[in-house]
Amino acid sequence: MYFVDSHCHLDFAELKEGLDHHLAQAHDVGIRHFIVPGVSSVQSASLIEFAKKYPQCHIAIGLHPYFIEQHNEQAFADIKALAQQYRDDIVAIGECGIDGTCPNLDYQLELFVEHIRLSNQLTLPLIVHHRQSHHLIAQAFKLVPPKHGGVIHAFSGSMQQAQYYIKQGFKLGVGGTISYERANKTRQVFAQLPLESVLLETDAPSMPLSGYQGQVNVPKRLVEVFRHLCQLRSESPEHIAQQLYSSSCTLFRI
Ligand SMILES: [Zn+2]
Repeated sequence: MYFVDSHCHLDFAELKEGLDHHLAQAHDVGIRHFIVPGVSSVQSASLIEFAKKYPQCHIAIGLHPYFIEQHNEQAFADIKALAQQYRDDIVAIGECGIDGTCPNLDYQLELFVEHIRLSNQLTLPLIVHHRQSHHLIAQAFKLVPPKHGGVIHAFSGSMQQAQYYIKQGFKLGVGGTISYERANKTRQVFAQLPLESVLLETDAPSMPLSGYQGQVNVPKRLVEVFRHLCQLRSESPEHIAQQLYSSSCTLFRI
């Protein structure tokens, strides 16, 4: 069985040091591709070199709402120019979106809309970060409807919200959250979603699975996320793995 980690920050300091080791371990358990999102203009620029060094890593370019206070018009102009120049070297626009726990929600919305415009212009999917922000994401989608779909990273909403995103052409990313019994709502949603709407992700180095709290999350744990998903689903593990692999490859054209 082969896998794609559809969301991992392999260029972050926590993983960069031992990256060859982490990638080898992930390869040993069948993980063949990694999607590494952009989070700021400087870091997005550095990903171009990163992807040349690690061809199994496919990159996206974007401004993460966590760092909203560092972003400005110039930062967006920079990532726009970068995405245009390296259009054929990137697989998505993101990680962008709206985080309800971060400041400047009006500006977050404005920036997110700009990311949607850019993805439409470059015919690329979006990697969307959401947190207590479903209504604002829906507002952005109304202002500028995304034309090339994408993924709602670490989806944790209701079935109704999931269906809304699927209608907009999006997949829902599932990570270590489903390893926690208390995440019952999210577990139930991923038990019932159409399999073709689900993508696997670790969000490494963040979001450690149950049993690894407080540790740096690493890409090989994707297979454990997969096992937790299999426990929730009625299909065979082989079928699930094959469907998720092919959905990831189709979405990111890898
Ligand atoms: Zn992320």
